[in-house]
Amino acid sequence: MKTMHWQEDPQQLRHLRLFNKVTVGILSQLLKEFRACELDNGEVLLSPFNRNQYLYLLLSGELKVYLGSLDNQPVTTLEPGDCAGEISFIDNDYPSAYVVATQPSTTLRLHREALVTLFNQSPQVVQNLLELLCERVRQGNRIILDSEQNANVDTLTGSFNRRWLEHVFERENTRCAFNGQPMSLLMLDVDHFKPYNDQHGHLAGDYALCMVAHTLRTQLRPKDSLVRFGGEEFVILLPEIADDEARTIGERLRHSLEQITNFYSPVGVLPGVTVSIGLTQNHPKDSLQSLIARADRALYQAKQKGRNCLCG
Ligand code: GH3
Ligand code: MG
Ligand code: MG
Repeated sequence: MKTMHWQEDPQQLRHLRLFNKVTVGILSQLLKEFRACELDNGEVLLSPFNRNQYLYLLLSGELKVYLGSLDNQPVTTLEPGDCAGEISFIDNDYPSAYVVATQPSTTLRLHREALVTLFNQSPQVVQNLLELLCERVRQGNRIILDSEQNANVDTLTGSFNRRWLEHVFERENTRCAFNGQPMSLLMLDVDHFKPYNDQHGHLAGDYALCMVAHTLRTQLRPKDSLVRFGGEEFVILLPEIADDEARTIGERLRHSLEQITNFYSPVGVLPGVTVSIGLTQNHPKDSLQSLIARADRALYQAKQKGRNCLCG
């Protein structure tokens, strides 16, 4: 990072968030505390391993923020007018993220020793800084929420995963028992999927799994959970549904896939697939494991019967 000569121009900087509503006179005073620095493309401005003492204000270029590792996807992109390092600038601790220049960039930086001067000279700047900090806290909360949701979703098909099934089973089991309502579970397994992959390729197999998930999902209620249980196995949890109705639902799902003789995919037109289904209704003392074990036995029977059918 190179510090550089910089011609202050308060008028030009007044539109920046940090200086919002600050008068030109005060701003001219404040700017004396700032130094300009240039960053090369790829230069790491902040790292969790280096204590930071500066607040950076981006004037031109672009900065990206990475959590955990520089190999992760950036969580946010900072544009001219945005600030970086404001948390470690205030609490004098290590930054919680990496901030990297992804273009040649120019920043203004302020050393934390000037914090008291800043507070004394302009309550407005302090308020602006607090607003920026609040934004960071909210952004952090959104990231937590997103990662919590992502942790429950299978990335290939967009269905829920087993982690979610464990959570939702406990919730729905308790709710249905409390209301004296039944609950059913379907276990589906794509038929002859190994030969499908061998014949059309693994990528085609992936698209077939996405097509299956999409076909199933569009026929379910919001309160049902479609879960990718394993490779080509799906589980559907049907709260408030007894086995008779679950059989009708399972048959409808099986039939709808049977009818898709081929479908469009990014690798061209591909043949459809069929599924075998095991069905079971929840018993009062069931755990998720015992319910799954019964559905799995019913699924095995469906495979024995010749596939593309429902048992249980
Ligand atoms: P069955 O009718 O008895 O179920 O036979 P099957 O060939 O479907 O069963 P098997 O268990 O022998 O093979 C499952 C195949 O599913 C093998 C595996 O490569 C494939 N598979 C599992 N997960 C994925 C995936 O994410 N993508 C693709 N393309 N294939 C997968
Ligand atoms: Mg299988
Ligand atoms: Mg299979």
